[in-house]
Amino acid sequence: MESVFVCPVCFNLDPDRCPEKSPPSLLDEHRLNVPFSELKRSAETGDCLACKILCVGLENMQELWDEGAESENGDQILLDETLLHIDLRRDHSLRVILANVGYETTIEFYTVSIDDCGLIPAFGIARPVSSELEISECLALATEWLKECSEKHHSCGQPTESKLPTRVLDVGQIDTDIVYLHETKDSDRGCYMTLSHCWGKEQIITTTTGTLQDRKAGVKLSQLSKTFRHAVQITRGLGIRYLWIDSLCIIQDDKLDWEVESAKMAQVYMSSQLNLAATHSSSGKEGCFGERWSLDTLNQTELNVGEDVAIEPSDETEGNYKIFYRHALHVAHDHFTRTMDYANTMEDLSPLLSRAWVFQERLLSPRTLHFHAEELIWECASGISCECSRLQNHKWGDPDGLLEQRKVDQLKMMYSSITSPEMTDPQVLETWLEFVTEYCTLKLTKQMDRLPALSGLASRVAQRLQSSEYLAGLWSQDLPRALCWQIDGPYYGNRHPTFRDAHPSAPSWSWASIWNNSQDAPYVTYGLVQTRGFVPDLRCRIQSFHKSQSTISPFGICGVVQLSIQAPLIEATLLVTEQDDSSIIDQMRKGSAHEQSLIKIKEKMSETYETWVRFEGESVRISPDCFDIKQRITDISHGDAVFCLLLGHFTLSDRDWMGQHPSQHLTRKEKLESEESSSQLLGAYALVLRKVDDGPTYRRLGLLVHRRGAGWWEDAPIALVTLI
Ligand SMILES: [Zn+2]
Ligand SMILES: [Zn+2]
Ligand SMILES: [Zn+2]
Repeated sequence: MESVFVCPVCFNLDPDRCPEKSPPSLLDEHRLNVPFSELKRSAETGDCLACKILCVGLENMQELWDEGAESENGDQILLDETLLHIDLRRDHSLRVILANVGYETTIEFYTVSIDDCGLIPAFGIARPVSSELEISECLALATEWLKECSEKHHSCGQPTESKLPTRVLDVGQIDTDIVYLHETKDSDRGCYMTLSHCWGKEQIITTTTGTLQDRKAGVKLSQLSKTFRHAVQITRGLGIRYLWIDSLCIIQDDKLDWEVESAKMAQVYMSSQLNLAATHSSSGKEGCFGERWSLDTLNQTELNVGEDVAIEPSDETEGNYKIFYRHALHVAHDHFTRTMDYANTMEDLSPLLSRAWVFQERLLSPRTLHFHAEELIWECASGISCECSRLQNHKWGDPDGLLEQRKVDQLKMMYSSITSPEMTDPQVLETWLEFVTEYCTLKLTKQMDRLPALSGLASRVAQRLQSSEYLAGLWSQDLPRALCWQIDGPYYGNRHPTFRDAHPSAPSWSWASIWNNSQDAPYVTYGLVQTRGFVPDLRCRIQSFHKSQSTISPFGICGVVQLSIQAPLIEATLLVTEQDDSSIIDQMRKGSAHEQSLIKIKEKMSETYETWVRFEGESVRISPDCFDIKQRITDISHGDAVFCLLLGHFTLSDRDWMGQHPSQHLTRKEKLESEESSSQLLGAYALVLRKVDDGPTYRRLGLLVHRRGAGWWEDAPIALVTLI
């Protein structure tokens, strides 16, 4: 048998020849850790082609960085002592991470054809990503993905003709410069595409009662925004006749039309052949095609994507191959495989994904093509693919997936399983709480839209929950639990003010009543109920709900909804105090941090307030719904009477509680107590209310989670209250 040469440095980049799996991971990935000096030595002896290719690629990359040095981009350095993490992953391109002190840079090595790949299989196949997206490239990829989706994905289903929306744009022929707004008949069927886009601050073209006839007579392409024009080009290029765009297909100044059509939105997106998402555009000006860019977050260096360079054999003895190398793409991958909480961290990079309206558009559309700033992303019920190939056939919920946080996956999966008969009602209701929590991390221009922008999803869930009534964002079947939402923030103690409008678009007991401003998200969460559970108090009964039938859609803008609940009710006193700073003083005594920074923290903390309720000599902190910039509750003042309505319970040990909450939620005394014992506690969920008039009518102020509070309501009278 012929003995094969095995390189002692790179093990021929063959996972099977590597000495051990290091580190052990879910990713079927082998990581070799090699100092660059060793790789260089191995390449110089000339025996190992793999080492040689890697070495040439890395050195060439350094040359590129050196050239860019004047433009301040050249701070990436390949030194002899640079440690290289060489990640081998089957069926994927090869990644080499240059680990220097303080930062890392990832270089990707790949081939574009199977012939070159055969040489050293570890140089997997990937797609080049050009620095400027052309329509022809986009159409080629979209066609490929569409074909694969319709032929190979069982969970996606064949794209078929469907009933057309009330109005669609007829995009007509490729070579004309005109499109028509087409009003359809009930029997009209066909294929159409949809567009998800940010309206932006500047006025975009719309249809109004005054312009409806003009739009039907024809709209010149030059009248459309760049994003709309590109959407028309793609629709034509894919051979599809109709395109649905909200601003043109809904009459914007006709309240009735808007309500009727936004109620049909779920169906519009669900039956779309393909949804185009102008993910990187914050307005209509930016379009879908054009220059790409990427941000290397570790170095804060802007890089052009697609600067791939090839290594070719230098003489005949080396055979025949072409290996490419480039900065590894990662921004889009992160955006599409991590939590949907884009509002703060990712807005600049993918503005569309931070908008509330897009939440249901993404979940409802069977297929979405995202125009991300870095690359194209394909999203369908089966999974996700990307232009560079790294996410190729990345399955939703795949345990061997790429990243650990998989919220989007879960939501997509949960959404597709909502209609499944295998899902029980409690599971569907649980899913709804997830949806609400994610949805409330997204921004909205108009507070009025908070419920309408979710109405499509709600109408879909309603088909599944036949015996449930939809009450301003909550399902009647899930009461009283669904009342236990609270306002959370990205950082506790650093939350942005929230308030309720003078003319609220939802009752105070609904999470949809909370509003901040168009630059911020309300951050409503059901986190505690979901992790700790909820057992309704036996004395708590939802008596009735009264809805005024003033709207077209039961899922959109809501009229008055009153909730009558019979439950134990106690009267307590509201206290507003400055934040407890005992822990800071404690740290100062220990000298565990610099005095300067402590003073700063102390200054910051003493500026914020906390809200408590006091009952029979015991005070407990509450989570207010509305507060100002100093975290001070806005609806009511210190010393006022409030009412606490018991809804349900949870059990937990003290230790669990500690793990669940940042320590700043607890006083020092509580902390010490909980360290001593680990007994089971019976906690309580209660609404904190204020009386509206002399009758039994109340408004919600916040949520009280009392971790040993069952006793408060032991002898409490049972009251029948009306919540508005
Ligand atoms: Zn080698
Ligand atoms: Zn698919
Ligand atoms: Zn990619």
